[in-house]
Amino acid sequence: MLRIGLTGGIGSGKSTVSALLASRGAIVIDADRIAREVVEPGTAGLAAVVEAFGDGVLTADGTLDRPALAGVVFADPAARARLDGIIHPLVRETAGRLTAAAPQDAVIVNDVPLLVETGQAGSYDLVLVVEVDLPTRLARLVERGMTEDDARARIDAQATDEQRRAVADVVLDNSGSREQLAEQVDRFWRERVEPARA
Ligand code: ADP
Repeated sequence: MLRIGLTGGIGSGKSTVSALLASRGAIVIDADRIAREVVEPGTAGLAAVVEAFGDGVLTADGTLDRPALAGVVFADPAARARLDGIIHPLVRETAGRLTAAAPQDAVIVNDVPLLVETGQAGSYDLVLVVEVDLPTRLARLVERGMTEDDARARIDAQATDEQRRAVADVVLDNSGSREQLAEQVDRFWRERVEPARA
């Protein structure tokens, strides 16, 4: 089994790289998706969030009211840390369970947006970082429907390219075309994944 940690800032192309790796046969474990699943109605995760922050973070139909929760933790680092303390262990536990259930020879790609921020670089055999120059990244996020101010605020709240590069085994540059990205993913597969499995 080869465990790859994939990270990069918002809008860098993690989902795009995940899809390319999945098409080569990798099993993708998406931390953001798990983070949503662990607080679905009826979960212990949602119960813990309500216990910590009150019924005000629920909508009328009992699902998590994300804007309300965001409002609570936005300007309050202690509340944010409390929320992370509920969600992050549940995400790690679920990712661990999915990894344990995968075949012995699997290539597992963990798409973890906050890999650097949460200090998880040491959990993987290889850390793969996707980067895009700032103007291109902003343009792609705006194209995806975000305002430029919102995109900048989110980028500023995350680790820097330098911090991600410091833990990277391989850096992919996604400032060019999708074809150029696919070529880099192919090279990564040939030069790093296949030898590691052999
Ligand atoms: P992330 O998962 O890191 O937030 P995505 O893979 O969703 O990033 O990419 C961000 C946006 O940029 C998406 O709309 C995606 O389709 C687009 N995109 C990704 N790579 C390229 C590329 N090389 N050229 C043009 N658009 C791209």
